[in-house]
Amino acid sequence: MDKQARIQELKREKNAVILAHYYVDEDVQQCADYIGDSFYLAKIATKVDAERIIFAGVEFMGESAKLLNPQKRVFMPDATADCPMAHMTDVEEIEKVRKEHPDIAVVCYVNSTAEVKAHSDVCVTSSNAVKIVKNLPNPTIYFIPDANLGNFIRKQVPEKEIITNRGFCPRHVAITMDDMLRAKEMHPNAKVAAHPECTEDVLKEADYVGSTSGIIDYVVNTEGDEFIVATVDGVFPKIKEQAPGKKLYRVIDPQVCVNMKKVTLDKVIDVLENETNEITLDEEIAKKAVLPLERMLELAK
Ligand code: SF4
Repeated sequence: MDKQARIQELKREKNAVILAHYYVDEDVQQCADYIGDSFYLAKIATKVDAERIIFAGVEFMGESAKLLNPQKRVFMPDATADCPMAHMTDVEEIEKVRKEHPDIAVVCYVNSTAEVKAHSDVCVTSSNAVKIVKNLPNPTIYFIPDANLGNFIRKQVPEKEIITNRGFCPRHVAITMDDMLRAKEMHPNAKVAAHPECTEDVLKEADYVGSTSGIIDYVVNTEGDEFIVATVDGVFPKIKEQAPGKKLYRVIDPQVCVNMKKVTLDKVIDVLENETNEITLDEEIAKKAVLPLERMLELAK
């Protein structure tokens, strides 16, 4: 039996669904029941009725699924698949800023630990961050942990003061301005779509800046045959499925998130068979950490 067939069999046996982020490899996306960006997957996690969720992604995504579904069992195919950015801030830093700015709203990117979420006012993803920040009553926002996304929000919501820390995505900041200029020179007719985790100078060169889902929609629905895509390669299969005629170019080759890459079909089979790598959370932290996630789902409606 091939691996895909074995996974489908195990899913039925174990009453499990697989949620996969766009950044995991194409073969892993193919075994999933739902594929999407962090926001879509967070919403889906509240709707699935299977007993077990296998989260083909990185740790904070599995944690968010567990926070939103404490009664379900959530498993990670690779326990070491973690987002480095999620650890680029901590509670101490948040409390220090709160002391300096008592009326601030702490807005935390979903790429964060449960502990950081527990000390934040609201979570956001890159697809709803601008909308949520705009609609918060607070004039000053502490946005953590991605400084680049924070800078992007600052430009879109100039009426608010946005304070950021120094977090970043190692994958997206590896795409430099020089790389981008070279790609544009090689493909002068291509439009550019970039993720807001890229640095400000790279984003200046983009025709469109948005979340992974936003990038997919932009490329699929925008006139033109050629596109330079500045994010992780995992978005390419979905674009090719929906717009097979379009030519897609990377800025650097490859554009891979090493942690998402750790998720393989063999590990999905293993986690289904052996029920290892289950997400467990401290109850007190979980009770607080779910609130900003629920607030995000409400405010993003
Ligand atoms: S692409 Fe960047 S932000 Fe996304 S999971 Fe990988 S390291 Fe984290």
